[in-house]
Amino acid sequence: MKSQDIGLLSTLRILIPFYIDSLETNWIHKTWGIPEKIDSSFLLDSGKVPKDKENRMDSNQKYYLQLMDELEERILAGGHIEREEADSMLGLPDDLTMKLAALADRIRIEFIGNKFDACSLINAKSGRCSEDCVFCAQSASHKGASEVYSLRSGDEILKAAQAAKESGASRFCTVTSGGALNEKDFDTLIHAIEKVKSEVDIALDASLGFLTPSRAAKLFGAGIVRYNHNLESSRDYYPSICTTHSYQARVDTVKLVKESGVSVCCGGIIGLGETPQQRLDLAFSLADLGVDCVPVNVLNPRPGTPLEHAQPLTPIEIIRTVALFRMILPKATIKLAGGRELNLGDFQGLALRAGVNGMIIGGYLTTRGRSVEDDLRMIYQAGFEISQAC
Ligand code: SF4
Repeated sequence: MKSQDIGLLSTLRILIPFYIDSLETNWIHKTWGIPEKIDSSFLLDSGKVPKDKENRMDSNQKYYLQLMDELEERILAGGHIEREEADSMLGLPDDLTMKLAALADRIRIEFIGNKFDACSLINAKSGRCSEDCVFCAQSASHKGASEVYSLRSGDEILKAAQAAKESGASRFCTVTSGGALNEKDFDTLIHAIEKVKSEVDIALDASLGFLTPSRAAKLFGAGIVRYNHNLESSRDYYPSICTTHSYQARVDTVKLVKESGVSVCCGGIIGLGETPQQRLDLAFSLADLGVDCVPVNVLNPRPGTPLEHAQPLTPIEIIRTVALFRMILPKATIKLAGGRELNLGDFQGLALRAGVNGMIIGGYLTTRGRSVEDDLRMIYQAGFEISQAC
């Protein structure tokens, strides 16, 4: 065989695979309609940003990708996000929203694993509240359409706790309207809680308004292991949502619970007209207070209240907010609370993989929720296990 033939053969041997490759690729592209240029953003997670992608990335994207990598490394190592960095994250380009969600999810997995807090509420005393919170249908200051009834009996509260346990909830929270219960109602409730404690294996929470040290001691002695008292919003926005008591009064109650060594559940409501910066103010105040559980309610505008016609937040705004809350409170339970179904709709599942590890199930104080079956299915499908430990 002449040398030039050998040369041609070896060239063909090299070229044929390329030719076959290109044939194959063209056929694959044509047959399956795969675009010539494949967006390889999934490679970002492995950090290997293809040159062409990196070249096409604008400096803003590069800035945020680098910032998120730094924050991930620091937070997973036990460090914290600084306020300026969190403010900066509010400007995250929309096309990096899923990266933010994934980052928050990794932080949740690192510090909490797949434990999920499924909390069931009883509205044990409703309406006729002397406070004027602008979002609340139970306030006597508004023409809100909430039911009005006095304290439920011990048997009714026990039945509700048993139903919560049977429904699959890990926590049962007794809630009463009003700044604080009168002495008689408070003593009645202590007996009811002691009865539930002795008969139902479920974590017992309460939300009874402002507390005194002696009431706190009685309550926690009766079996309450976590106390809810939300800050609701940021300190500077609070006067716009309530005028009958101060923000500091709420902070003092949270501190009192913290000092008594009982777990603190303290969060708020977003979508009240506050700015994204004020949402961060709330999250950093909660982090400073060292709260254990953060319920994030999203306004469900109630007829007859001053916020009846409030502009709703978008699901993506809500998801970005809970993800940032996870970054600011890496070890806390971040719990989706009221307004979840209405405001997140089909995005609820995504929120569960964007830093959230808890939900209120089975309905809310004055509004219904979706079925517990649907909620439990979503929780398990998202890879969680319901646990009293979070
Ligand atoms: S949120 Fe609580 S304190 Fe405020 S009006 Fe409603 S029941 Fe009263």
